[in-house]
Amino acid sequence: TGSYILAAGQTAIEAKGVTKQFGAGPDAVKALDNVSVSIRQNEFFTLLGPSGCGKTTLLRLIAGFDFPTDGEILLYGENIAPLPPYKRPVNTVFQSYALFPHMTVAQNIGFGLEMLGKPRAEIDKRVSQMLSLVRMEELANRRTSQISGGQQQRVALARALAPQPKVLLLDEPLSALDYKLRKDMQIELKRLQHETGITFIFVTHDQEEALTMSDRIAVMSKGKILQIGSPREIYDRPSVRFVANFIGETNFLKGNVTGVSGHHAEVRLADGATITAGLPEGLNPSGAITVVVRPEHADLVAPGAPADLRGRLENVVYFGTDTHYYVKLDGGETFIIRQQNSHGGGTGHAVGDAVGVALEPNSAQVVRD
Ligand code: ATP
Repeated sequence: TGSYILAAGQTAIEAKGVTKQFGAGPDAVKALDNVSVSIRQNEFFTLLGPSGCGKTTLLRLIAGFDFPTDGEILLYGENIAPLPPYKRPVNTVFQSYALFPHMTVAQNIGFGLEMLGKPRAEIDKRVSQMLSLVRMEELANRRTSQISGGQQQRVALARALAPQPKVLLLDEPLSALDYKLRKDMQIELKRLQHETGITFIFVTHDQEEALTMSDRIAVMSKGKILQIGSPREIYDRPSVRFVANFIGETNFLKGNVTGVSGHHAEVRLADGATITAGLPEGLNPSGAITVVVRPEHADLVAPGAPADLRGRLENVVYFGTDTHYYVKLDGGETFIIRQQNSHGGGTGHAVGDAVGVALEPNSAQVVRD
């Protein structure tokens, strides 16, 4: 499979100011609203967002099943608008695998190549490469109506990869699988992407799936991309309230900016403590703002100890690997703290106790509303 590894890092797909509107007049829906994004060769790139945010629409435009109302899509720097879907070096794996039930695994994988009129010997060679890539050699001659859901998913992947697309589009390909199989296939997909060097554009509404699999994630809402970054950037440094809320659990605290220097702001919290919070690129705030703090970046401390926030312990929930502490702050908000459990551990704080909350240095982040 080494022959189709392209230079990593080069821009593979670029959307420039892409808008897609369905319908007209008062009923018009902007499924995509001025979306711009560059996706690199060899990247596992995920479009993440709630139902209806425009993920599938963006994939369909890249595949050529539909056309932008405005803006353009470039593939290796060239506008692909004139190319019909079958001439684009792009292939799609859908949520429903759409395999041919009366054909064998091998016939399904070779189908696209047959349609392209490739010589028999080449088809056979590619099919056997693909069978080994998805570890399905032993089931090559089984009909696809006689294999499991996870195996069907592998066949669908092999079939999409067989014509050697430069870009593979995956529209919620794991959503039909049960939890355990889904976890296995996540690892499998990462491996396939790594081994083939093909750019994967993966659509999901599952934040955990996006965090564990992606090189970079674009978080979408209502037809717009709100933030693009590595899983760690998106999780640790959300720039928008929606992103912080959609990904993982988050505490929101109200505060007032008392000073800005570079990428940081001094923020006075409602309780009176002053903390330093990170600033999203390009934001120069003043006055009332919101900061976010992840629950694992705060500690419960004794009421007399130095703390950023104070309140009363309202609830304690044990999760095996960690424990969640719900603190009702003096300011009225509830603050969640997540602490890893150590063997035989326990914090010594009981529900109803007065407690302090100490934020880890550098853990707070100002978000746009
Ligand atoms: P899901 O996760 O539910 O598939 P999505 O993020 O993929 O959602 P899209 O399918 O891209 O969302 O849809 C975005 C918006 O565009 C939605 O409001 C949808 O109703 C609308 N839409 C999509 N296709 C059409 C169409 N052919 N005609 C009219 N409206 C459409």
